Amino acid sequence: MKEKQSVKELQPYVVNPIVCSVKLDANEGSKDLFKDLVKQLGEEFYLNVYPDDSYIDLKKSISNYVGCEISNICVGNGSSELLDLCIKTFVDRDELILSLDPSFAMYSIYAKIFDTKYMGAESEDDFVINADKFIHAIKENNPKVTIICNPNNPTGSMIKKDDVIKIIKSTDNIVIVDEAYMEFGDESVVEEIENYKNLIVVKTLSKAFSMAGIRTGYLLACEELVKTVEKVRPPYNLNSISAFLATKALEEKDKMIAYAKGIKKEREKVYKSLKDMNVKAFPSGANFLFFHSDIKNLEEKLVKEDVLIRKFGGKLDNHYRVTIGSEDENNEFIKAMKKFV
Ligand SMILES: *Cc1c(COP(=O)(O)O)cnc(C)c1O
Repeated sequence: MKEKQSVKELQPYVVNPIVCSVKLDANEGSKDLFKDLVKQLGEEFYLNVYPDDSYIDLKKSISNYVGCEISNICVGNGSSELLDLCIKTFVDRDELILSLDPSFAMYSIYAKIFDTKYMGAESEDDFVINADKFIHAIKENNPKVTIICNPNNPTGSMIKKDDVIKIIKSTDNIVIVDEAYMEFGDESVVEEIENYKNLIVVKTLSKAFSMAGIRTGYLLACEELVKTVEKVRPPYNLNSISAFLATKALEEKDKMIAYAKGIKKEREKVYKSLKDMNVKAFPSGANFLFFHSDIKNLEEKLVKEDVLIRKFGGKLDNHYRVTIGSEDENNEFIKAMKKFV
């Protein structure tokens, strides 16, 4: 065994192998929304050639969807790859990455792999994020890169756009805003990429577009930052089938918008049902709800009812995250919960 020290201390990322009919553990979208696109690959789709490394067709449809220039876009094999590229590009060994606590687990994993320091600024009661305190943490620690997940995973907490801008303005160093779930919220800062030369917004097709299987994400920033990240991006990092399907899905963004609207409505319904059961759920701007429950072994009990949700441990013991699925799936979840409260 000759792995480097930082990898020695790491554990593999374990994905829950349990299979249930009602799968509400991974914030995935609708299985039907874009399933017909696969047929469009057709017989003229050749697999022998490398993808177009400029990804121009995909970038055109991203630019139409977002309202930015082609030169503001970098594409990746899921937004996870783009987060990884940003850390490789901007953070040296022993420099600091500041994020929220709790937040997306991958941030600290990438930090560990690259031997950077990592710090999560603690949120307030009920996982509310106080922008002024966060800015204080930035001033005090001067992170090389700050990552804010908005809406935040796993808590669903939203930071207002004005507050995100205050955070961006508080430092000259890079601020990455991970907007994986922003189609279910309304505080995006994508229109600000030309106004702040230290801002990077990372987005994905995995959630609202319901295409987690094609592993496609994109990064939006001013041209200069995109050029810098492009130096680190491996050629052909996104496969041609994913690039094609993502291009087509973005061209039908109205489908996604209608779907996201339905999810938001369902989210409020599930929120209210949990509240009526005296289960403490936290307000969410995403396609999931985070909640607290003292019911013993709740996850295992729900699995026996064929419903899979995500449980958290450590400091977040007795906390759970449930994805908002189809109306039927959500009803199954609520029905199962009622047996145990
Ligand atoms: C799901 C998720 C992503 C998306 O990852 P992909 O690699 O694009 O599938 C990114 N950030 C957060 C916080 C997420 O929850």
